[in-house]
Amino acid sequence: MTKVIVASAWPYVNAVPHLGTILHLLSGDVMARYAKLKYGKENVIYVSGSDEHGTPIEIEARKRGVEPKSLTDQAHEYDKSIFDSWEIQFSNYSRTESQTHKEFVRSFLLELESYIKVEEEVIPYCSYDKIFLPDRFIKGTCPYCGFEDARGDQCDKCGRLLNPSSLVNPKCAICNKAPIFTKTKQWFFDLSSVEDKLRHWLESNDNLPKNVRTTALSWINEGLKPRSLTRDNKWGIPAPFKDAEEKTIYVWFEALLGYISSSIEYFAKQGNKDEWKSFWFGKDTKSYYFLGKDNIVFHAIILPAMLMASGKEYNLPNYIAATEYLLYEGQKFSKSRRIGIWADEAPRILPPEYWRFLLIRNRPEEKDMNFTWREAVRIINSELNDDIGNLVQRVLTLVDRFFNNAIPVLHKDKLNDTDKKVMEKIPEIYTKITEDYEKALLKQASENILELARLGNGYLNDRKPWDIIKASKEEAGNVIYIALLIIRVMALSLYPILPTSSQEIFNMLGLGLIEEYNWNWAIDSDLPSGNKIGKYKPLFNKLESDFDKKVEELLSRIREDVETQRPTLLK
Ligand SMILES: [Zn+2]
Ligand SMILES: [Zn+2]
Repeated sequence: MTKVIVASAWPYVNAVPHLGTILHLLSGDVMARYAKLKYGKENVIYVSGSDEHGTPIEIEARKRGVEPKSLTDQAHEYDKSIFDSWEIQFSNYSRTESQTHKEFVRSFLLELESYIKVEEEVIPYCSYDKIFLPDRFIKGTCPYCGFEDARGDQCDKCGRLLNPSSLVNPKCAICNKAPIFTKTKQWFFDLSSVEDKLRHWLESNDNLPKNVRTTALSWINEGLKPRSLTRDNKWGIPAPFKDAEEKTIYVWFEALLGYISSSIEYFAKQGNKDEWKSFWFGKDTKSYYFLGKDNIVFHAIILPAMLMASGKEYNLPNYIAATEYLLYEGQKFSKSRRIGIWADEAPRILPPEYWRFLLIRNRPEEKDMNFTWREAVRIINSELNDDIGNLVQRVLTLVDRFFNNAIPVLHKDKLNDTDKKVMEKIPEIYTKITEDYEKALLKQASENILELARLGNGYLNDRKPWDIIKASKEEAGNVIYIALLIIRVMALSLYPILPTSSQEIFNMLGLGLIEEYNWNWAIDSDLPSGNKIGKYKPLFNKLESDFDKKVEELLSRIREDVETQRPTLLK
């Protein structure tokens, strides 16, 4: 039995996700919903969680004189409520403070012993802020590409991993003063010793998108350096190594292991505590990871390297779906400059399903995408309303008007060439949609779903069943029957993206719960002719054509209100 692990990169809990961040969590939800129909609910897990350790939260807590966990408790709950409102359903949305996670990380890292070496490292300390400056807390010029705003762990421009001591002209990110460097012992994970295995895996895994493979291979060709696993911060998972009692684990090393610990936690809660192994060690497992391209290095190098070094046969990632950047009206999202829309604001502007559709239509699968309100109005009015909504309305109205709300009978002897061609086209498009979902190309799947809707609308315009019924009720019935076939396939394939609206279409068709069906059913079975179906109920509404001009004002009004409801850490 095929098992499917769906994972989205753990969002950092100290900021409300913006559209570009929630896109990864939404993509995972879409994938998991598809996979459940295709492979069976019990064979799919969707895991993620809050990444809650790290220096920013430690500093914030110190400033407020509270425990870091009291801040992350609230923020974690708040994020979960946002994901609920977006209809994002996880099997388990865990957190890095979970006991299961902490225990798993500590025991996992202890088993990497032969790959770990202890070395002196020069690390920056700010004598003004009185804090060690790990990772994002030190900035400077990238020694590889010259980018002036590189961080201590990674350069945002060229994506390479960095060390604080390799930055040119380093500065404390809090006070901008030059740090002093002191020596301390750190525990390093020796990436170079798995270099060959990694290269082989990257070259032989055909499911990796090109951007992931090329980027990761180019880093390997430059030679991988040991990465330090430990940090001198207090807020984090205590390092399990002997003599490292004062240290904590670098957030990325532990958060990546969260995919496994969250699976363990999920099945333990289900009372089926060994079942996670059939996903992580089974011979027939597919895994999908949803993330932004800035996280490629962690998922295509660090995570597989750790899994390889564990000496156990963990399944390595198959599909690393790393998207390019999403821009907002041509600019990068920026909290301080208030550029963008945040995930708790969005549902107050438009219904969540509109957002799900908009984000998947704007998913940057091959190149950066630019979210604009002008384009959003077009997508909602012409694609969601005209292509999809109208098709359902037209067909159900015809069934009501000419067939007394009963599904017509298919008279095979009365099919003409157009009818036959359309009937052949349905499974063809469905196959394309299935392939898109299999490859985690969700935007492409949405295009093929729209092709299906347009096929239906074009077919009705061509055949005009309201005219032909005057001459032949059988022929008109055939056209309507075929149009109903299209709607059924469209609703099922749209379900991962628009779960509620697709269910409404199923309800109108009298078909019951979508989740009870199998992905292949919609093309393998006939319609129950003679069965009564429901009347059409409106699915979507059009936006006013100048909505794009009014939205900023609307946004500034709701923004104040939303901000008062955010927990302390997220204000
Ligand atoms: Zn760089
Ligand atoms: Zn400082």
